[in-house]
Amino acid sequence: MKYGRTYNFSAGPAMMPEEVLEEIAAEMMNCRGSGMCVMEMSHRSKVFQQIRDEAEADLRKLMGIPENYKVLFVQGGGTVQFAMVAMNLMKNGVGCYVETGAWSKKAISEAKKYGEVKIVASSADKNFSYIPDCSNLDIPENADYVYICENETINGTTYFKLPDTKGKILVSDQSSMFLSRPCDVSKYGLIWAGVQKNVGPAGMAVVIIREDLLRDDLPKSVPTYMSYKIHADNDSLYNTPNCWAIYCCGKVFKYLLDKGGLEAMHQRNEEKAKILYDFLDQSALFTGAVAKEDRSLMNVPFVTPSKEQDADVVAASKAAGFDNLKGHKSVGGLRASIYNAMPKEGVEALVDFLKKYESEHK
Ligand SMILES: *Cc1c(COP(=O)(O)O)cnc(C)c1O
Repeated sequence: MKYGRTYNFSAGPAMMPEEVLEEIAAEMMNCRGSGMCVMEMSHRSKVFQQIRDEAEADLRKLMGIPENYKVLFVQGGGTVQFAMVAMNLMKNGVGCYVETGAWSKKAISEAKKYGEVKIVASSADKNFSYIPDCSNLDIPENADYVYICENETINGTTYFKLPDTKGKILVSDQSSMFLSRPCDVSKYGLIWAGVQKNVGPAGMAVVIIREDLLRDDLPKSVPTYMSYKIHADNDSLYNTPNCWAIYCCGKVFKYLLDKGGLEAMHQRNEEKAKILYDFLDQSALFTGAVAKEDRSLMNVPFVTPSKEQDADVVAASKAAGFDNLKGHKSVGGLRASIYNAMPKEGVEALVDFLKKYESEHK
């Protein structure tokens, strides 16, 4: 690869499109004729306002976000959203959660600080290797929302069909699948995504929220910054935002539009994932860790027959020039994260490497 870059299979922060990084590098000393870098610029300046507005407009175009939804850029990455969702949306104090792995569990434990959590479905019985049936969930009348982690980054599962929420609003953590495929925003009350997985740098989340869910009547104990309405009323400029992340994400939104949008991304992502899954499905040494019908197009966990061999493959992959293939510490094994910015050639090179390893370790 150019610049001596490696194929980086990290789950996040993760690869960004090379063209975007080149553009950012070219603008580092003088952004849009301002005579300064975006990192040096007032967030109230005309140039930055333009950068912010274009980022929002491009995201709206990319996802087809309806008029009655607000787009917010909020600091604190993904984790702050676990609390923010509960603080802002628990009117009756009841949230329904689907438990599908590490990130939904974190959302659940955080929400318990603010109200009652009802786990309406879970795949804990099989080590979170599948998505439970969500076609007839037992949702109490007073539930404020139904929450899912739409792509479990660590466990490697994804929803191909959204839950029937029985009329309650759907809240989705899309962090590790954001902009990887088309999304009908109108099916959700709130979508949020930490951007360092599939879009840009760490430290920010994009929140897409239906306007009627913005509240004036939050409990006084809710910190000002944690109110969605504060961010909505101030165009995400209530305080100094993560200007750098907004700028980089804006570049990626333009890049995605230029490459044909989310349909085109989806097609590419399906092709890429198929290369890896087809290999795993016929391999005698490597086994995919997830039920076929629920396999993520973004995060692909797999194992060898032993922990020792898993570690050996990771070491060999590193020596061969691949990075970050070690599975998350909570589940072990290996994991290849193949987000939008991972080129098809990267996945092909990985499969070639795994094939060679297998033939040498018969
Ligand atoms: C990474 C991740 C998070 C947490 O993001 P941070 O920015 O590290 O707080 C939450 N949900 C999912 C699905 C993730 O992949």
